[in-house]
Amino acid sequence: MSADDQYAVNQCLDALNYSQANISGYKVGSAIVALNENGAFGIFDGCNIELATSKVWHAEEVALVKAISAGYRNILKCFVTSTGEQQCAACCGYCMQHLMYANPDCEIIVVNPDGSVKLRTTVRERNGPLAYLGKGRLD
Ligand SMILES: [Zn+2]
Repeated sequence: MSADDQYAVNQCLDALNYSQANISGYKVGSAIVALNENGAFGIFDGCNIELATSKVWHAEEVALVKAISAGYRNILKCFVTSTGEQQCAACCGYCMQHLMYANPDCEIIVVNPDGSVKLRTTVRERNGPLAYLGKGRLD
């Protein structure tokens, strides 16, 4: 694993500490690796946030929004882990859809709680033909 990937794994695991999982009980951490328009490299962490108002933000969603809002729109990798990872809880279909529109060739790296890699794939590999890509993609 590269030093950058290891850093992203650490960010992903650290994000679990900030999770607000009072509804599901599953803490989820994520780290998005992305480039900005100048080719600068950035890593953005995120955790799931569940509010009693019924709004739930997934960790991958939070990390993705942080990257995009900082100008890092070339989304390369999404690291994700959860306290329920033994049940393959990370990277649900909702988050997969966000990543599909951001970059169908984005790598998804599911990380075990001990930091080892459980699964490395891409959005395209996991979802087959992406017939419904169209409006709503990042510029
Ligand atoms: Zn999700």
